Amino acid sequence: MSIKGMNATDRAAQGFRARLRAAWQALTGRVARDVAARASRESPAVPAIIDAVIGGIPAPAIVIDRDGKVLAFNVPAAEIAPALRPGEPALITLRMPEVVDAIRRVAATGERQRVEYYQRVPLERWFEVFVGPVSMPSGEARSARDMLVMTFHDLTPLRRVEEMRADFVANASHELRTPLAALSGFIETLQGPAKDDAAARERFLAIMRSQATRMARLIDDLLSLSRIELNAHLRPSTPVELAPIVRQVVDGLQMLARERAVEIRVEAPAEPLTVLGDRDELVRALENLVENALKYGASGKRVDVTLSRGAARDGADEARIAVRDYGPGIAREHLPRLTERFYRVDVAGSRAQGGTGLGLALVKHVLNRHGGRLAIESAAGAGATFTVHLPLRPAAAV
Ligand code: ADP
Repeated sequence: MSIKGMNATDRAAQGFRARLRAAWQALTGRVARDVAARASRESPAVPAIIDAVIGGIPAPAIVIDRDGKVLAFNVPAAEIAPALRPGEPALITLRMPEVVDAIRRVAATGERQRVEYYQRVPLERWFEVFVGPVSMPSGEARSARDMLVMTFHDLTPLRRVEEMRADFVANASHELRTPLAALSGFIETLQGPAKDDAAARERFLAIMRSQATRMARLIDDLLSLSRIELNAHLRPSTPVELAPIVRQVVDGLQMLARERAVEIRVEAPAEPLTVLGDRDELVRALENLVENALKYGASGKRVDVTLSRGAARDGADEARIAVRDYGPGIAREHLPRLTERFYRVDVAGSRAQGGTGLGLALVKHVLNRHGGRLAIESAAGAGATFTVHLPLRPAAAV
């Protein structure tokens, strides 16, 4: 039918239908665009490859889009930022102000940023965080273009080592500075006020001598520790029989035992117990334990040194040397820290005994190097038992 042939009613009806069609098209088009936009806002399409790559990174890693919404993250990232949700704004869910600032800087400058982030809870951890822009080649899915990738590197072990080293240097210098200050003080006194006082000179010289001995012992212990640590990865391979070592150590400390009015009793089996070891180091370790028992447990009047054979945790044969004293013992809370360098239950008491606070650290390192361990049992008022566990020389090596 031609337009010419239509009456007015027909023309009106056709115009209405055309307007309706146009309106419908416009409407449906907008609806489709809205749905797409909302979908990309709520849960942006993330190419599976991004998810897979992020999932394969062992350290925390997070990908966000240019608008700051989370696109993808891996399990380690969820552990340090439990509020993360795909599609949600990273700036809110991350809860790491330093990192959020870095994201803003990357968005503003387009340049990669590095920040350090310190997490207090649930665990104290330090992270180095890199936030970098990533541009996908054009033609890829729109939502995958222009992303920011955040990777976290755990600096905690490094920090701990740094802290330990700083503490160690501070402790060692402090330990050396105290006797050094005493020496300087006495030298000044002897040069000045006590110049012509023979009695004072004798007294001061005796103190100076003991302070110098303390410094020498400290340096000696520090050097031994560092030497043992240097060789920590080398297992000693010389067969060493333990009974003669026990006897040598006890004989060498009889003088000290007499001074302290302590009796040392030794028990050893008839069979030889042989380990692969460094004789000097083992002597040094055992000396430390027996000397401690004599120094700190003297009030018990008796120290038992017992050599025996036993079964290690893994069932293998081991040698045990238990050094038991009947002195005041050690309160439970101190036991786990006794082998730390410079750790002392009673600092003044240890210094008065000429202690350096390094003895048990040395014992622990020697035993570690020998594949053994030190066990400490004690309770306040009940004496103390320090037991050396050492793997016996394997039968094949006999
Ligand atoms: P120190 O040079 O002070 O003796 P150690 O590392 O050998 O250093 O010992 C650390 C601390 O452990 C000592 O200062 C002391 O407080 C405590 N200790 C060690 N052995 C005993 C023991 N047998 N009885 C009680 N306390 C002990």
